[in-house]
Amino acid sequence: MSNQMLRRNVVIIGSGPAGLTAAIYSARANLKPLLIDAPTDAEKHTVPGGQLMITTEVENYPGFAEGIQGPELMADFRKQAERFGTEFLETWIERVELQERPFTLHTRDQVIQTETLIIASGASAKWLGIPGEAKVPNGLGGHGVSACATCDGPLPGFRNKALVVVGGGDTAMEEATFLTRYASRVFVVHRRDKLRASKIMQEKAFRNPKLEFIWDTDVKEILGNSADGVTGVRLHNLKTSEGRVFPCSGVFIAIGHKPNSDLFKGQLEMDEVGYIKTSGHSTATNIPGVFASGDVQDSVYRQAVTAAGTGCMAALDAERFLDHLPVMMPSGDEVTMEGEHVTPDHQAIITPDGHMVPNKVECATPGE
Ligand code: NDP
Repeated sequence: MSNQMLRRNVVIIGSGPAGLTAAIYSARANLKPLLIDAPTDAEKHTVPGGQLMITTEVENYPGFAEGIQGPELMADFRKQAERFGTEFLETWIERVELQERPFTLHTRDQVIQTETLIIASGASAKWLGIPGEAKVPNGLGGHGVSACATCDGPLPGFRNKALVVVGGGDTAMEEATFLTRYASRVFVVHRRDKLRASKIMQEKAFRNPKLEFIWDTDVKEILGNSADGVTGVRLHNLKTSEGRVFPCSGVFIAIGHKPNSDLFKGQLEMDEVGYIKTSGHSTATNIPGVFASGDVQDSVYRQAVTAAGTGCMAALDAERFLDHLPVMMPSGDEVTMEGEHVTPDHQAIITPDGHMVPNKVECATPGE
């Protein structure tokens, strides 16, 4: 039953680089943010701290010349957000109401109202939804099935073994190439006879003597048992309709990512995949006072450093909005907390009751 009532100026959803950077900035601005993150859930593949928590070495985050482990980097982000007074709540948000401000968030035990909302809920790896793929004990997930080669590839169970990677994009090429460091052989199973991956990644993969491709093929089932882990996959050739069992000791699913935006469907504007639309010049969504940052709104860059950058932008946008200053919307209009719209050409202001007034400072003429 929802019972505890909370009221805040800034609520942040998500604790990856975007959410924690938004927290650092808004906490330093004395806005006392409340950051809500999802609890660890093996079945839903969630862990506070986001995707970097399932990464090993991060070599491209600026400031760490020797590289840093993903979980260590996120622990430091979190400590920094805590130092400036960020309040943390680990719970599932069941429903949000964004039609009017303050916005309302419902969890099992709380009703949370907030003047601004920063969504930094990230993206998750996509799964095939086939038998054998679910987490142990329902399948072999975590026992030979993975969606993260960098996290799991070096594990002893995969060393000098035949491994399968599913997918034909850049992620699949990157994962497959990485796995050839450890495996005896890596087989990329792709549903078409052409890769989606960029030319440079394709060429690198084609040149790798430990990599082979199985074209026009779907994986129908992952085979194995609790004692031996993965023992093979059941393949289906889409051109010939032939089926066969292909022996392997590990399966890496690399078929892309899905933005974690289901909670906001029907309320926020999104693209066809579910990425939340933001203005491009700010992190504003189509609802004034709701901002989005990180992978939930970025299908292009998807890097920890760009997520942190947009997290910073979202905090500054929320601060500006709470200061009654205009924030740029995806439409090109600028909108204030009071509901005034500044037109894209900056020539007029439309007041909340629909009146248009010139956007000019009225100067008193000397002598009047
Ligand atoms: P993509 O969407 O580019 O590719 C997904 C791949 O998985 C496609 O080949 C697709 O097949 C296949 N696929 C999707 N669904 C299924 C399914 N149900 N069954 C079988 N196969 C399926 O995702 P990526 O994660 O590879 O890349 C996303 C973005 O990130 C891209 O812009 C990419 O360039 C970028 N990226 C860049 C990297 C780099 O530069 N180092 C590394 C990783 C990603 P089909 O081709 O038939 O649609």
